[in-house]
Amino acid sequence: MAFEGLSEKLNAAFKRLRGKGRLTENDVREAMREVRLALLEADVSYKVVKEFVATVTERSVGTDVLDSLTPAQQVVKIVNEELTNLMGGGTAKLAFANNGPTIVMMVGLQGAGKTTTTAKLAGYMKKFHSKRPLLAACDVYRPAAIEQLKVVGGQLNLPVFEEGQGDPVKIAENALRYARDHGNDLVFLDTAGRLHVDEALMDELKRMKATVHPNEILLVVDAMTGQDAVNAASAFDEALGIDGVVLTKLDGDARGGAALSIKAATGKPIKFVGTGEKLDMIEPFHPDRMASRILGMGDMLSFIEKAQQTYDEKQAKKLEEKLKKNSFTLSDYFDQLQQIRNMGDLSQLAGMMPGNLGSKLQGAQIDEKAIAHTEAIILSMTPEERENPQILGASRKKRIAAGCGLDVVDVNRLLKQFEGMQQIIKQVTGGRKPGFGFGGLG
Ligand code: GDP
Repeated sequence: MAFEGLSEKLNAAFKRLRGKGRLTENDVREAMREVRLALLEADVSYKVVKEFVATVTERSVGTDVLDSLTPAQQVVKIVNEELTNLMGGGTAKLAFANNGPTIVMMVGLQGAGKTTTTAKLAGYMKKFHSKRPLLAACDVYRPAAIEQLKVVGGQLNLPVFEEGQGDPVKIAENALRYARDHGNDLVFLDTAGRLHVDEALMDELKRMKATVHPNEILLVVDAMTGQDAVNAASAFDEALGIDGVVLTKLDGDARGGAALSIKAATGKPIKFVGTGEKLDMIEPFHPDRMASRILGMGDMLSFIEKAQQTYDEKQAKKLEEKLKKNSFTLSDYFDQLQQIRNMGDLSQLAGMMPGNLGSKLQGAQIDEKAIAHTEAIILSMTPEERENPQILGASRKKRIAAGCGLDVVDVNRLLKQFEGMQQIIKQVTGGRKPGFGFGGLG
């Protein structure tokens, strides 16, 4: 999970404050020294840290915070608000065109995750904004880049426009024409990447910008490169002018320096973040939620949204009905497992939950292998057996085990688990309306 190092240090500083009851100005200054160190260690730029600590200190000691009944909480609240401001305050959205296709130019250095992010973002827009995106392969220097875009586009069922190694600006223009002719309302231009910001690259990007007039120029940077990502953002913004940043690989970023510095250093907001290699692992960037997450106050909103996105409402209703009637079967169990898989990495979800709850869940990795076994066993059963596991005698169990390449003990273990689950469901739903389950989230 991102930012764990920073979270830990900040929380240690605040814990000391909380332990004190009444606070003096000196206590606050002491805590701010720790905050300052924590931010510097997180690779936040020096200037940003200095300003941040000055603002928080001034707000904390300058008003009646210290005289309040809960001074430590007030200081945490101020840090939370200022972290939110630091990252841009509100959530920055993509600007869609009023008429004609929206054109998004994706730019960035090689390896930042540009091609992957182009596909992820297009997939996101298709799924959550009902857009009909077209991906255009304008990185003509690396033949593998075109192929890569076709592969990731294909995985998301997105059309990819390519003309091999032509002039990238011409390809972009042709892609736009294609989009207009084929009803694509959103065009992502996957442009060339280089190892470093160089003049030739910038010239090509400027020429493309002047010709196609994109609605958005999004710079993709790798969170794990810390201040290098911030420097790349400044360089691209000065040379080309960017509208926003997509910060990738946040899942591997223990420090958080780029996320915390980019807006303050460049004035340009982070609009989306990449949180994993899978193509649905992209989220809008919410500064307030990120701040709460860093401070260990959890991000229940993101958690609930994620649950809602993956949790099928109709299924949830159906499940609730079944629970009420005590008719939860192995087929339902199978469906539940599918839903859990769709939720993705449980440890990622854990980071969104407040305090203890999060750290408890953090260790509770989903055991993918166990889920796969359970699924295989259920799939080897006949529909009748799934609805009615009581009919499973020795010979049926043997057949099922052989069918999925496992042992009879595995089948028995699953049945035992399922029985236990039914017992729990009975207890929880016994007579009462089930406030339990996933109905509340879906
Ligand atoms: P490009 O050269 O900028 O086009 O970069 P690619 O799209 O080829 O990505 C480089 C590598 O970063 C690939 O292995 C991606 O799977 C990986 N990657 C991209 N975004 C993320 C992310 O958000 N999290 C993680 N863990 N990996 C990512």
